[in-house]
Amino acid sequence: MPGSCDVVVVGGGQGGLAAGYYLRRAGLDYVILDAQSEPGGAWRHGWDSLRLFSPAEYSPLPGWGMPRQEGEDFPTAGHVVDYLRAYEQRYDLRVRRPVRVHEVWRTGERLVVETDAGRWLARYVISATGSWECPYVPDIPGRGEFAGRQLHTVNYTSPAEFRGQRVVVVGGGNSAAQILADVSRVAEATWVALRPARFMPDDVDGRVLFGVATRKAAGGAGGGVSDLGDIVMVPSVRDARDRGVLHSRPMFVRLTERGVRWADGAEQPCEAVIWCTGFQANLIHLASLLPGWRQGEVATEGTRSVDEACLYLLGYGDWTGPASATLVGAGRTSKATVADIASRLRG
Ligand code: FAD
Repeated sequence: MPGSCDVVVVGGGQGGLAAGYYLRRAGLDYVILDAQSEPGGAWRHGWDSLRLFSPAEYSPLPGWGMPRQEGEDFPTAGHVVDYLRAYEQRYDLRVRRPVRVHEVWRTGERLVVETDAGRWLARYVISATGSWECPYVPDIPGRGEFAGRQLHTVNYTSPAEFRGQRVVVVGGGNSAAQILADVSRVAEATWVALRPARFMPDDVDGRVLFGVATRKAAGGAGGGVSDLGDIVMVPSVRDARDRGVLHSRPMFVRLTERGVRWADGAEQPCEAVIWCTGFQANLIHLASLLPGWRQGEVATEGTRSVDEACLYLLGYGDWTGPASATLVGAGRTSKATVADIASRLRG
């Protein structure tokens, strides 16, 4: 098991697998270490009604595209998990799981990858650990006082447990809009966001977004993805709009024991607050390797760390490549990353 290789990839979600595809094709000696016991990365943990915001054919990893899901225009998270499982089998990718990487540090010409299954030595490390394990909740006054239930997107599974309750959904992005759409079918839901939600036109889905991001990355004229809005109008969100519940109000000023307090001092009781307030890159295993690093982004040129020449970061967001945290975007940044590593190893 543990040993020495050219490249260790930390994380076996879509980003790690896309890297594996190109590492295999380049004939490099690599291993992918993934903390989960099964394939699928973050897609294994999404809520029950979570769907891709594009049709399957617009969400391909390199080499082999996602098959259509029978009866679904927008594939379910379960379908994506099946696809990732089949993908790693199809290319016989060298994934070891469950193996959690605790720390990466340098010794001479090598990087040492410390895991709960032993130690690997690598010439290069690609970190592709996503952000699902690092939910972000803002530090709002009164969070500790609220006697009801608080949960983050990562803990939300289905609306059933909120039936008949008063629920406050916090966040201005797609997760908030989709969870609000879900919960508002069975509960009295209030949507709260820092700024008024900006909805994309109904005909904009993932394929349009990727096209815009790609043109922008290539230096094209016109605005980027964010100019189109923040929220993709997937069918469930359109349905919420048609039901008249898709209205956000400005952020409350604090939580109280029984609910939330608005800026005008009024209090609104609720049984649950769902924080759809995003994620941070999961990079804690790199803390020793990048001593100046504080939670957040790492300085990169392309996907390569500026401070550690043998470290690459994949799939964390636009700072690791345009649309790199999407299925289709993971392929492009992985290709460039592996090409760079291969030329350094050979050169
Ligand atoms: P992950 O899928 O999170 O995989 C990382 C893997 O690394 C996991 O298996 C994890 O266990 C493992 N890991 C973490 N830490 C360690 C460690 N220290 N050692 C070893 N292993 C570790 N994208 C689209 O293209 N289309 C969509 O419609 C879409 N919808 C989305 C909806 C939601 C709600 C969210 C949150 C994201 C969505 N995305 C979508 C974005 C994107 O596809 C996902 O965020 C994607 O899961 C990121 O893939 P990844 O491989 O980078 O990370």
